[in-house]
Amino acid sequence: MFKIKQDLEKCIGCGSCVAVCDNWEMREDGKAHPKKTELEEIGCNKEAKEICPVECIEIEEV
Ligand code: SF4
Repeated sequence: MFKIKQDLEKCIGCGSCVAVCDNWEMREDGKAHPKKTELEEIGCNKEAKEICPVECIEIEEV
């Protein structure tokens, strides 16, 4: 089980995570949000974390 955490304050809304992972979406606040924060598989969230230029995505194994 994986838990996704994001420091929304740091997100600059660049959209990179959305481009590489369908678990992420842009919302009206101009920032990206994870659709699901608890997942069985890490999947593309790993790429989202790696591509984020401000390193605001954390993935915890629980
Ligand atoms: S890659 Fe990072 S900074 Fe860019 S939208 Fe996603 S969470 Fe925000």
